[in-house]
Amino acid sequence: MLLTITNSRYPATDLSFLLHKHPAKVQSVEVTNGKAHVFYPEVSDDKCTCAILLDMDPVGLVRNSDGNPFALDQYVNDRPYVASSFMASAIAKGFSSALNGNCKEKPALVSIPLQLEVQIFVLSVRGGEDVLQQLFLPLGYEMIATQHPLDPHFPEWGDSRYFTVTLKHTVTLQTLLSHLYVLIPVMDNEKHYWVTEEEVTKLMNKGKGWLEDHPAKELIVRRYLRYQRKLSNNALSAMKVLEDTPVVEQVPKQTLHDVRLQAVYDEIARLRVTSVIDLGCGEGRLLKLLLENKQLQRITGMDVSSHSLEVAARRLKLDKMIESQRKRINLLQGSLTYRDRRLQGYDVAALVEVIEHLDEDRLLALEKNVFNEIQPNTVVLTTPNKEWNVTFTADETEMRHGDHRFEWTRAEFQAWCEHIRDVYKYTYEIKPLGEEIETAGAPSQMAVFSKQ
Ligand code: SAH
Repeated sequence: MLLTITNSRYPATDLSFLLHKHPAKVQSVEVTNGKAHVFYPEVSDDKCTCAILLDMDPVGLVRNSDGNPFALDQYVNDRPYVASSFMASAIAKGFSSALNGNCKEKPALVSIPLQLEVQIFVLSVRGGEDVLQQLFLPLGYEMIATQHPLDPHFPEWGDSRYFTVTLKHTVTLQTLLSHLYVLIPVMDNEKHYWVTEEEVTKLMNKGKGWLEDHPAKELIVRRYLRYQRKLSNNALSAMKVLEDTPVVEQVPKQTLHDVRLQAVYDEIARLRVTSVIDLGCGEGRLLKLLLENKQLQRITGMDVSSHSLEVAARRLKLDKMIESQRKRINLLQGSLTYRDRRLQGYDVAALVEVIEHLDEDRLLALEKNVFNEIQPNTVVLTTPNKEWNVTFTADETEMRHGDHRFEWTRAEFQAWCEHIRDVYKYTYEIKPLGEEIETAGAPSQMAVFSKQ
């Protein structure tokens, strides 16, 4: 019974910090009737895989199954080979801090969605692929499920209920682990322990934030609690209360700005460059993320506001930084609308939610300066999408921020990008930022310009 989790979001080894397991060691934890071994088959900045292998003791399993009505089970027991509630216990024990959303060394990582892929060999699924789809697709997973035949030598016997399953999603590790923790035993629909009130608490706890709205909620709750009607009803009605609680009371884990900064960071990390300048860096939130990337040797933040730069210096703890780190970062005061040699010589320039703070006529000075004078190889730029404002106001003229001079629709942004392409010889690619809605698009938009 083997489960692997792969992260391919750069730097992929973030996974090992979150899992609290050293990538170079094999570590084992005791679980009921066996051991779980945790190790890393692949470790690099591009791809990092952690595996958890369950090594069950079939004899112990039978010996400890008091009152098992099926005596024959001891000879045909599939428990040592399939991922079931044992795997859920192993996840809870082996990855407890990640499952509970703790990361001592790098707390900021907890709320960052990773590019994750899970493989589970082999899973017993009651209800087949249909149930797998019902469970995982509504949560946003891409899934490949391969069903194993009962016996490859006798295809006419048909398929077994055993599957190898691959799941892909960009989510936080905590969310992924809580999905697996709850859904693995649900797929199997068999448990090695009696369910009690305690299981209701565990289910409520690990299902928080996703189970309440899951279309297969009833199936999940009833299977998880082994069809104990009273317990299932308690859990379902407790969830109903949660569901009816107004959304405003729930604190979002990741703000739109976090999503935006993460997307900009990812673009820059992907380029594998060594220097970057954040133009209009404000309070230094992007700089803080960039410092985590060891590849970047020269990071500069520039802003017109000395107050913002002071806040940035405090946020980055510049005064307490060790010298080798301090040498990598620099803050400058200046204006984007004036020629300034200090801004030249960087691989990438970022402008995150900056252009809309300039009067449209000053924007011409900015674009000349950025794309003609500074001329970095890549410019990563974001700005709000005006169309999305319908989600909070009916007033066409209302803007997101008191200091915004303009906000653009998607078409207006694209027209400006085309203008940059034609005048300054940069190609561009536009990406939506944040959750898209059908008629209005995403809350924010990003363009990545590359010098031709
Ligand atoms: N990029 C930061 C801040 C965005 S707010 C973030 O994403 O968190 C916009 C920032 O642009 C403010 O800090 C403001 O001081 C700065 N700014 C506005 N006009 C500017 C100009 N002409 N030159 C440089 N910075 C400017």
